[in-house]
Amino acid sequence: MQGSCLCKQVQYEVDALATPILHCSCQSCRKAHAAAFNTGAGVEHDHFRWLDGEDNLSSYESSAGKHRYFCKTCGSQLISIKEDAPLLILRVATLDDDPGVQPEFRIWKSHEVSWLNYSADIPEYDEWHPEQS
Ligand SMILES: [Zn+2]
Repeated sequence: MQGSCLCKQVQYEVDALATPILHCSCQSCRKAHAAAFNTGAGVEHDHFRWLDGEDNLSSYESSAGKHRYFCKTCGSQLISIKEDAPLLILRVATLDDDPGVQPEFRIWKSHEVSWLNYSADIPEYDEWHPEQS
């Protein structure tokens, strides 16, 4: 599978996911991704490689030893690496290919925002809301 950042300068390839896909609502992920939760999965280091734009990455150490890598130009979060952890964490939403599996659970429920009903069945539209675009 291949993935990329928003501006396409950074490209990567993943051989396989090593864990189920999950949604993480921890405060660090919420802030880093500017979203109610981040969707991630573990990947073995040997199963991940940068294809292009690695020199366009920057990183932020959001907690001791945890480095979040993102594109310097467009800000897309791509992976995180925790020192001494066996797996890196892929930001699954940056994949350009379908991983073929669906998220299995949510973590950091204790940090979930109060304004989102995570299991809500609400109206949906293929693109913009027809009356609010
Ligand atoms: Zn970019």
